[in-house]
Amino acid sequence: MTTSTPLSDLSPDQLAERLTTLRADYADLQGKGLKLDLTRGKPGSDQLDLSEGLLRLPTTHLDRSGTDVRNYGGLEGLAEMREIFADLLGVDVDRVIAGGNSSLSMMYQVVTWLLSHGGPDSPRPWSKEETVTFVCPVPGYDRHFTMLADLGIEMVTVPMHDDGPDVPSVRALVADDPSVKGMWLVPTYANPTGAVTSAEVAAELMAMPTAAPDFRILWDNAYAVHHLTEVETKSADALALASASGHPNRPVVFASTSKITFAGAGVAAMACSPENKEWFLKRLSFAAIGPDKVNQLRHVEFFGDADGVRAHMRRHRDLIAPKFAAVQDALRSRLDGLGVATWSEPVGGYFVDLNVLDGTAARVVRLAKEAGIALTPAGSAFPHGNDPDDRNIRLAPTFPSLADVEAAMAGVAVCVELAAVEKLSA
Ligand code: PLP
Repeated sequence: MTTSTPLSDLSPDQLAERLTTLRADYADLQGKGLKLDLTRGKPGSDQLDLSEGLLRLPTTHLDRSGTDVRNYGGLEGLAEMREIFADLLGVDVDRVIAGGNSSLSMMYQVVTWLLSHGGPDSPRPWSKEETVTFVCPVPGYDRHFTMLADLGIEMVTVPMHDDGPDVPSVRALVADDPSVKGMWLVPTYANPTGAVTSAEVAAELMAMPTAAPDFRILWDNAYAVHHLTEVETKSADALALASASGHPNRPVVFASTSKITFAGAGVAAMACSPENKEWFLKRLSFAAIGPDKVNQLRHVEFFGDADGVRAHMRRHRDLIAPKFAAVQDALRSRLDGLGVATWSEPVGGYFVDLNVLDGTAARVVRLAKEAGIALTPAGSAFPHGNDPDDRNIRLAPTFPSLADVEAAMAGVAVCVELAAVEKLSA
C-alpha cells in the first residue's frame, strides 16, 4: 500500500502504522534472496556486444598516410582518429591528442605534471606551492575526488545546478586565492546529476578572473555523445569561449570511447590550446614512445567517421533508455508525493542522482545491502566521501538487466521510505 500524503504530515499513530507496514514490505524484500548491483557505471554486456566487430579489425596495418601502426611513434595519435574526436567534441583537429584506453589516466597525467613541472603559464611547479586547491562541483565523480585526495590536493565544493556549477560560488573562490589552481567539470550529462552546463555558464567560467595565472578547468566530457533521448544536446565550446576571453590555456577537454565501444579497450582523447598541447606532448615524450595505434585504427575502421559514432550511440540508447525509465517508474510509483526523496530525470549519461530525506542516505544503503541490493556507498559523490547532509545516492542502472533494474529499484524505493519513516518516528 502507498500513500501520497507527505510523510511529515502524518500523525504519530499514522507513522507507527506506516512503519509496521513498511517493515513487513522490507521483510518480504529480504525474503526474496536478491543479489543485485547498482553500483558501477559500466556498460552492460549487450552494449559491449554492439562493438564485437572491433575484435576482427583492423583489416590493415597501414594508416591513411601509409604509416605502419604496429610500430612505435605517432605520439599525438592517428590523424583519422583525432578527426573523429574533433568532430564529436566540436573542436579543431589541431587541438586534439588521441591516446591510450583511459581518459582518467590522461587527467592524472595532466594533474601530476602540473604538480611536478607546472604548466606553460605557471610561476613554479604546483608542488612548490604551500597548498593547491581544486573547486569541486557536488555531487560529482568519485574518481576525480579520490585522485586529488591521493595527490594531497585540497578540495572545496560548490553546488551543481541543472545548468552547471554555481557561478557566484566559483567566482568567489577563485578571485583572490592563488592557491585555487583548478576545477573539475563534467559538462554534459554530469556524473551523477545528468546536468548539462549551459553555454552561458561555460562562458562565465572561462572568462572569470582568477588569482592563479595557471588556473585549469578539467573539462571531462566523458558523456558528450551519450544521449538518452532523440535530443542530441551539444556541449558548450569550452576552447573557443576560453580563447575569446583571453584564457586559452584554462580548459583541458577530455573524452573517450570507454562507454561507446569497450570500457577497458577504447580510445581516450584530450583537446586543449596549442601551448598546453605542446607542454603535454613534451612531458608525454618522456613517458611513452607512442599510443596503441592498432586500437585507434580499428576504431577508425569500425566507425568510418563521427556520424558512425553517433549512429552507434543511438543503438546504445535503445538498450539503456528502458533501464532509465524503469528507475523513474519505480521511484515514482512508491515515493511520489511523500516529500522524502527527489531524483534527477537525466536525458543522457549513465546515472540517476537520488536525494533522500536528510540524514538517511547511509541507512538506505545499509538497508538495501541487507536485502541483497548493492548501492554505491552514501557520500561517494563528495570529496572524502563526506556528504554533509547524508542524503545523496548515485544509482547506476546500465550494467544489470532490465528485470534486475526493476527488481532492485522496487527494493530501493522500499528502503528509502522505510528509512524516512524510521527517522520521522524517532
Ligand atoms: N570521467 C567520468 C565523468 C566518468 O564517469 C568515467 C567513468 O565512469 C570516466 C571519466 C572514466 O573514463 P575512462 O574510461 O576514459 O578512463
